[in-house]
Amino acid sequence: MAETSAEALRTALRAIKDPASGQDIVTAGLVEAIEVRGGLVQTTLLTDRAHAAAMEPVRREAEALLMRQPGVSNATAILTAHKTPPAAAAAHSTAAGVAPGAGQARRAPGGKPALLLPEVKAIVAVASGKGGVGKSTVAVNLAVSLARQGHKVGLLDADIYGPSLPRMVGLNRKPQVRGDKMIPLQAWGLACMSIGFLVDEETAMIWRGPMVMGALEQMMGQVEWGPLDVLVVDMPPGTGDAQLTMAQRVALTGAVIVSTPQDIALIDARRGVRMFEKTKVPVLGLVENMSFYCCPNCGHRADIFGHGGAKAEAVRLGTEFLGEIPLLLDIRTASDAGTPIAASAPESEAAKAYATLAARVWEKLSDATAARASGPRIVID
Ligand code: ADP
Repeated sequence: MAETSAEALRTALRAIKDPASGQDIVTAGLVEAIEVRGGLVQTTLLTDRAHAAAMEPVRREAEALLMRQPGVSNATAILTAHKTPPAAAAAHSTAAGVAPGAGQARRAPGGKPALLLPEVKAIVAVASGKGGVGKSTVAVNLAVSLARQGHKVGLLDADIYGPSLPRMVGLNRKPQVRGDKMIPLQAWGLACMSIGFLVDEETAMIWRGPMVMGALEQMMGQVEWGPLDVLVVDMPPGTGDAQLTMAQRVALTGAVIVSTPQDIALIDARRGVRMFEKTKVPVLGLVENMSFYCCPNCGHRADIFGHGGAKAEAVRLGTEFLGEIPLLLDIRTASDAGTPIAASAPESEAAKAYATLAARVWEKLSDATAARASGPRIVID
């Protein structure tokens, strides 16, 4: 399908009226930016807090109109405030039901929003096609292992609907605010940020798409991450708004897809891989979690869910099999206690499996960063 242009979409948006001025929203200057990536479109509409409620139907109308345009497979419209609210106030307005200012990013020359996190050398998304496969556990232990291997690591919990980072690393404080930025919390050698530090779980659960994206942008743009070697991002399960935001707003170095050996989960994993390919984010490879069971008493190994599915699938998808993590009770109990096993029992079999995975991911990230510096991004097809 032919790629649509931002200009064509801007013209199409002239069909929508600004309720305040009676002009069309383009003439009224409300259409701040339109980004087009393949068939994926994101636009930001300017508003302020006072008019956010009145603008919500306009936002929806714009989204629906963009979705109908030829060449558009998915469109999102975000309301963005004129002024950047201070981080704490923005977190409050989010909880109160106002879409946070998502367009507070500095503008790059040419009017496009500048990519967030320019000081972070590599950003890796840990994703899965569905929930419950151990994605967050892999993200946390991967991050801890990378830090133990001497890298400066941040961990961003982008799972807005179900943040699990606070529990998994044993943190339940609110981050401090310095100037207009939040300071990430420190645990296990990592700089950590999660929406779970800011609002209670029920609040996050009822957020709609634009709020999720706004909150995500805030956790990247309004957090003092500082220079990092790598930021590990625990993505929400599935292939929705958060994936799109990440793909559009940061220079994702690559994605790691977590799957269990069951076939059904692999079908979902395939969907996860395809989503990243569509957004031109390189897939670094697949990880098989709960790969096999080791009896803690006799050491007997049992492949209770079958074994090797992810490896075979990785070959089929033309991507790499990055490693396997055993199903071990200690992994779960360590996570539940807020003491990730990669840090609390570094000599354990589980910690060694995460360390092997981390070393391979680091190699792949280094390759991908070098490739990006010297030419176009590599996309697996
Ligand atoms: P997701 O992020 O995919 O929803 P989680 O990381 O929250 O999944 O894991 C789901 C549950 O499975 C948690 O209770 C976690 O402790 C447990 N778990 C994850 N990986 C393993 C493993 N390799 N062995 C044992 N339990 C695991």
